[in-house]
Parts: sequence; structure tokens; C-alpha cells
Amino acid sequence: MQNSFVSHLYCPKCATSYTIEDRHQLCLCGSPLLVAYDLERLALSMDPTQLRDREPTLWRYRELLPVLHSENVVTLGEGFTPLLPMPSIGADMQIPGLLMKDEGLLPTGSFKARGAAVGISKAKELGVQELAMPTNGNAGAAWALYAARAKMKSTVIMPVDAPLITRNECAISGSNLYLVNGLISDAGRIVADLVKSYGLYDASTLKEPYRIEGKKTMGLEIAEQLGWKLPDVILYPTGGGVGLIGIYKALQELQTLGWVQGKLPRLVAVQAEGCAPIVKAWENQEKASEFWQESKTVAFGINVPKALGDFLVLEAIYATGGCAVSIHDEELLQEQQRIAELEGAFVCPEGAATFAAARKLKQSGWIAENECVIALNTGAGIKYPDTVNVQVPVLQPEQRITR
Ligand SMILES: *Cc1c(COP(=O)(O)O)cnc(C)c1O
Ligand SMILES: [Zn+2]
Repeated sequence: MQNSFVSHLYCPKCATSYTIEDRHQLCLCGSPLLVAYDLERLALSMDPTQLRDREPTLWRYRELLPVLHSENVVTLGEGFTPLLPMPSIGADMQIPGLLMKDEGLLPTGSFKARGAAVGISKAKELGVQELAMPTNGNAGAAWALYAARAKMKSTVIMPVDAPLITRNECAISGSNLYLVNGLISDAGRIVADLVKSYGLYDASTLKEPYRIEGKKTMGLEIAEQLGWKLPDVILYPTGGGVGLIGIYKALQELQTLGWVQGKLPRLVAVQAEGCAPIVKAWENQEKASEFWQESKTVAFGINVPKALGDFLVLEAIYATGGCAVSIHDEELLQEQQRIAELEGAFVCPEGAATFAAARKLKQSGWIAENECVIALNTGAGIKYPDTVNVQVPVLQPEQRITR
């Protein structure tokens, strides 16, 4: 039985290709590299019914993942998260076909576990012993914990105001953790210098090609969970944009395989008003974004002022007839509360933003009432206890409640 149908790495900007056996970071031209598979051969040897009896993790898609030997798989049981109907909040915004892909159930509490599982597994296969990365919190937490599972050393640098729990996740895994008095872009500069000086593996967003392959599995799962039919719209909270690029890549691979038919879903990049470089670029129909000055939002995972893969995100939006929407912090926090009240789901602020965006796009007529719409909840609300303002009456033991 063959594991992976991976063939090589290629540059989406200048088309240079690279071997899969060696360690690569960016293309010589500075662009991220993407992973190519031998899809013609895979289409001949497999059909999707073969997936039915496989384990409910992202490793069920091993043919479309880059790890060659199963002994290199580093797993905490990630993947195959539920695709839940959201009838009440859907009715509230007049989108009865609203679904939520709930990534809050993954190990480490966010979908960053997908990227870390595949990224760390491939790093292990390449013989990496030590990595470094900047993060807004969730990615660092996931990579630190998966690195620990792989017996790999890690150095993680995050902003001082990144969610405290992600700091603790890194610390408890034995990672070399640093805080920076600044943004993820500042952490990135320090990591780049460290990597250059000490020859560490650079696990920064899109500076290694495999994290995206892990995140791609969200797209594979959505297609499989809908019985190989595609939804009309997928809304994704976009920081570095890896998830959106990954979902787009997954759907294209499934199209090439002939496992899905018809038009691809319109992909929507959702950002916070306090950090919306992709939205601004899309509004001006640009091919790349500009650095967003003094970015700020409670949705920490999408506070990325300039993404290395911005041109790929924009390409995915243009190619699918999608769009980009920004949401005010207050709006997304209100939506977060509404989802908890109406559906009993405590989503993360980034996830709440996708629901707020769906509501907006329905109001403007961009989403039609009969459409199948998927909101990605990228993490667990319980990772962000400080976004909820609680004022609760305190009782004395002898007190009674009267109504
Ligand atoms: C990182 C993160 C995002 C943004 O993901 P990208 O793929 O980098 O755009 C969204 N939500 C949460 C909870 C995150 O941690
Ligand atoms: Zn290139």
C-alpha cells in the first residue's frame, strides 16, 4: 500500500521546482513553496469510497499529505472535526443552510494543530532537530506541543499581549519561549535573525511548505462530510491566510482527481476592522496587500499586518468569485455571545467574525437565502476567557433567590 503521492515542491511565483527529499524554506525568489502531488496516478489507483473505513483523523488523507513513511507521523489525534448545522443562528440571519466547521475540538484548542501535526511530521522526516517560529499564540502553542511529542527542540516568540493560555501551552511543553514587546512582525524579524545565525529550521508561516498541507485537510473534510458535494460559500478568518490558501488548494486537488464536480465555493476572507490588509487590497482589486499600520483586534489570531502569502489569498478569492469583509471588534463579540445563546457553542473571536460576516453578506444580498454556507470556527472560545465580560451576583450562603 502506498502512503503519499507527493511528487515535488514548486514556486507559485516563478515556477521553479524543488525536490521533496531535501529541506527547503522559501523559493530563491522569496516566494513560499507549495507541495505538488501525482494526482493523475492517484486518480487511477483510488476512489473516495476507500476512505470510508479509515480512522477519523486528518491522516485518513495520507495520499494527499507529504509524509512518506508512516513511522514519521506525529499525531495527537487531530482532524475530522464536526460539520454542524446551525439552525438557530442560521434562522436569525436568514441563512437556513448555515453550517459550522468546529475546529475548537482539536488538540491544543485551535486548527493550528492541523498545520503543526503535518509540519512537525514532515520536519521529523527531514531530520530536523530544532525549529524556531514567531506566533500570535495558537500556532506557537500547537507547534511547541507537537515538537515535544516529536522530541524536537523549539524556540517560540510571541507578543507580550498574546492570549496567556498560549504562553502557558508553550512553557509547559519545554519550548524556549520569548515574549516580544511588539507585534508578530517584530517577532518574525527576531526569528529570522536567529535562524540565520544558528541554522535552525524556520517554521514561520509559509516559510516551510508543509503547514499549509495540514490546514488543507479542512477543505478535504468539508468535501467528504458533504458527501463530495461542495458548499456555495466558505467564510474563513484570515490572518496569514494559510487556511484559506489550503482550503483552495484542497478543493482544486479534489477537482483534478474528479472527486468533486462543479463550481468551487466562493471563498470569503474575514478580517477585523483593526487589521484588514487583505480587505483593503481586495477592495482596490490589488494582487498583493500593504503593511497595516498599528493593527489591533481582540481576535488575536487574525492580527497579521502583512502576510507572506497575501497574493495567494487574493488569487483564491478572485478565482472563486469570493470577497473580503472586515468586522468591528464589537460586532464580532456580539455575534460570539449570540452564537453561545442560540446554539450553545462557545466559539473563538476569530470564528465569531465569520458568522458576523455571513450576516453582513446576507443583508447586502451577496449571500442568497438558499445557499449552503460554511463558517469556520478556528478555535475554542475557552482559550480566550478575557473576551467575555462577566458580572454575576454573589450570594451569601444563607441567602434565598426570589423572582
Ligand atoms: C491563526 C488563526 C487564524 C488565522 O489563520 P491563518 O491561516 O493564518 O489565516 C484564525 N483563527 C485562529 C483561532 C487562529 O489561531
Ligand atoms: Zn520562485
